[in-house]
Amino acid sequence: MKQDAELWDLVIVGGGMTGALLALALRSLTPAKIALVEAQTVSSQHPGFDARSIALSRGSVEQLKRWHLWSNLAPNATAIADIHVSDRGHFGMTHLAAAQFGCDSFGHVLGLEDAGRQLQQALINAEIDFFCPDHVTALISHSDYQEVTLDSGRRLRGRLLVAADGAQSFVRQSLKLESEHIDFNQSAVIANVILDRPHAGRAFERFTEHGPLALLPMAQGDGKCMSLVWAMKADEQARYLALSDGDFLHALQGAFGYRAGKLTKVSQRHGYPLIMSVMPRPIYHRCVFVGNAAQTLHPIAGQGFNLGLRDIATLVQVLTPVLNRGQDAGASEVTHDYLAHRRQDRQATLTAIESLVRGFSNQAFPLVLGRNLGLRLLSWCPPLKRPIVSAASGWPLRRLS
Ligand SMILES: Cc1cc2nc3c(=O)[nH]c(=O)nc-3n(C[C@H](O)[C@H](O)[C@H](O)COP(=O)(O)OP(=O)(O)OC[C@H]3O[C@@H](n4cnc5c(N)ncnc54)[C@H](O)[C@@H]3O)c2cc1C
Repeated sequence: MKQDAELWDLVIVGGGMTGALLALALRSLTPAKIALVEAQTVSSQHPGFDARSIALSRGSVEQLKRWHLWSNLAPNATAIADIHVSDRGHFGMTHLAAAQFGCDSFGHVLGLEDAGRQLQQALINAEIDFFCPDHVTALISHSDYQEVTLDSGRRLRGRLLVAADGAQSFVRQSLKLESEHIDFNQSAVIANVILDRPHAGRAFERFTEHGPLALLPMAQGDGKCMSLVWAMKADEQARYLALSDGDFLHALQGAFGYRAGKLTKVSQRHGYPLIMSVMPRPIYHRCVFVGNAAQTLHPIAGQGFNLGLRDIATLVQVLTPVLNRGQDAGASEVTHDYLAHRRQDRQATLTAIESLVRGFSNQAFPLVLGRNLGLRLLSWCPPLKRPIVSAASGWPLRRLS
C-alpha cells in the first residue's frame, strides 16, 4: 500500500533570498514544522544567489536585525553613505548624504553569492527540513493541505504552501493563476567594475540615453569595486555583452563620466531581461506567494527584494500567533489576512516603479525637462529630500491589529 506523505505546517517552495529568510525567521519565532525545497546548491549559476549585488534599504536591514539574521549577512555587506543621482547630457543632478539625515547609512549592498552560502549553511544548521538540491515537479490541492511531489519522488504535504520560487514560479503556473506582465523592452548588463580610487561608500544612479545605470559600492577590491546594473534597450544588450573589456569600459566611462574616478577593470558581464510581472491576487487555497513569485520588479530603484522582504515580514506577523497556538497555518483567514495587509504597500511600490521606469527611460523633451527640474529642485531645496529618503530607506509596513 502507498504510504501517506508526511505533513508539515508549512512547505516553502524556493530557497532564494525570500524563501530562505522566511524559513529562518519563522524558525526563530515559532515551533512550527517547516519544510523548504530548493532546486540548487549555491554556485555562480544559481538563479537567486548569483554574481549580482543588491541594495537593501535601511528598513530591510533593521528588520533582519530584529530577526537576528543580519549577522549572517553583515560580513558581505557594504554601507551606502552617499547617493548621487544625475541625468546624462542634462542639468539635473542631486546628492544625498546619510549624515545630513542623521543616519550612518541609507542601507547596505549585499553580494548575493556569498549571502546564499551563509543562508544555506544557516538552513542546514537550523531545525528545518531542507530538501536541496531537489525540486517540486507536481502539485495537488486538497481541502486540508497542499501536496507537492519532488523530483526525488518524495511527497510533502503542507497545511500552507508558500511559493517563493521566483519569477517563473512553478507553483503559480501549476495552479494556472493570473500574472500581469509589462515588457519595457529593456535588458540589463550586470558586472563588477574596479575604480582607480576608493568608492567611499558612494552609490550612483545615472540616467543615460540608453537607460538607467547604477553603480553600488562593494566590500571587495580594497573598497574600489562597484557593482554595475546598466539597463538598456533589449536589442542593444547583445552588442554591449560582446564588446572587449577595453571597449566596454570606454563606453561605460563615456556614459557615466568620471564622478567616481577612472574605471580600470571589468569582470565577466551577464545579461538579464527586464520584465515587470505582478500577480494581482498573490494567494490561493492554502497557498501564498512571496517575493519574485508574487511580483518581479524592474531593478531601477533597487526595490525588488526590499518589497519581497516586506511580503515575508507580513507573513511572519500573520503566522506567528497562529503557529504558536498550534492552529492551522493554511486556514483561509490566514491567507486573506496576508492579502489584506499586503495590498496597499504592493500597489504603491508597483505604481512608483512603473512611473520611474517610464519617466526616466524616455527622451521626450517634456519628460527630460520635468525630471531635470525635479533633480535640480532637490539640490536647491534640501528639505524636499527628506520624504524621498524616508521612502527609499524606510519601512512602510503597518502594524497588524
Ligand atoms: C539586475 C538586478 C538587480 C537587482 N537589484 C536589486 C536591488 O538593488 N535591491 C533589491 O531589493 N532588489 C534587487 N533586485 C531584485 C532581487 O534580486 C530579487 O527581488 C530577489 O533576489 C528575489 O528573490 P526570490 O527569493 O524571491 O526569488 P529567486 O531569487 O528567483 O529565488 C527563487 C528560488 O526558487 C528556486 N526554485 C524555482 N523553482 C523551483 C522548484 N520547482 N522547486 C524548488 N525550488 C525552485 C530557485 O532555484 C531559486 O533559488 C535586482 C534584480 C535584478 C535582476
